[in-house]
Amino acid sequence: MPTFSDDVIVITGGSRGIGRATALACIRSGARVVFSYRGNEAAAIETVKECQVIGGVDSIKAVQADVCSEADIIRLFATAKSHFGTIAGVVNNAGIVAPSMPLADMDAKRIREVLDTNVFGALLVARQAARDLTDGGALVNVGSMASKLGSANEYVDYAASKGALDSLTIGLSKELGPRHIRVNAVRPGLIDTEIHASGGRPERIIELGPRCPLGRPGDAAEVAASIVWLLSDAASYVTGSFIDVAGGR
Ligand code: NDP
Repeated sequence: MPTFSDDVIVITGGSRGIGRATALACIRSGARVVFSYRGNEAAAIETVKECQVIGGVDSIKAVQADVCSEADIIRLFATAKSHFGTIAGVVNNAGIVAPSMPLADMDAKRIREVLDTNVFGALLVARQAARDLTDGGALVNVGSMASKLGSANEYVDYAASKGALDSLTIGLSKELGPRHIRVNAVRPGLIDTEIHASGGRPERIIELGPRCPLGRPGDAAEVAASIVWLLSDAASYVTGSFIDVAGGR
């Protein structure tokens, strides 16, 4: 039995990393997927091709849409509805880190960029999910263990942004519960994706992986598995909850 029967799932930041793995896992589980990306068209095309091998040519659509743009988010969801129909699930995944440094050394522009994408953008996506999801729908936010661990001397701006996502998850689950729409979050730990290179510390994977209780970094597919579960009817009585996919960190 597939987990999803042609259900339509919208994923932000599906061109790479956890978003791409989630697109693939959703398609494998019988969904149709519309994903957004910021600017990496080559990666988006690669994701589309991989998904089409599994689900067929009509299972996937990519849309260039910046989560920081209200117009782009409205267009992303409108495209999903016009292309495939009613949206059953949303994965609020797009996020960034800026180069690793203590807070005292960060300039205001960088802090604003991180908060714009990870908080303002995530709120725009969650707002559109609140408008478009109907009875039985599900939103999954992709937070971070950084909200609990703090990322001292590296990315406290990022950790603070993910703390906001935790609060969003709790508040919106209460707001949308009466409409039978579930809101949950996964909080990944150290996952082997390109985001660590964006943070200027690709070596984090090699340095910190062995220090996780499970002795290694996680794979994006291991995060995607929990996201698919939270989207699915198997989690029908789960809302306002967090799954830490962090190898025990
Ligand atoms: P990647 O850097 O591998 O991928 C980021 C994705 O987000 C890309 O598809 C990128 O698009 C997209 N994106 C970035 N900014 C925007 C934007 N403004 N508008 C639209 N799309 C955007 O990151 P990960 O897969 O590692 O991270 C995914 C999520 O998981 C993030 O929210 C991150 O904070 C979280 N996370 C990751 C952890 C890890 O260790 N990897 C740990 C904890 C949380 P494009 O390809 O066009 O640039």
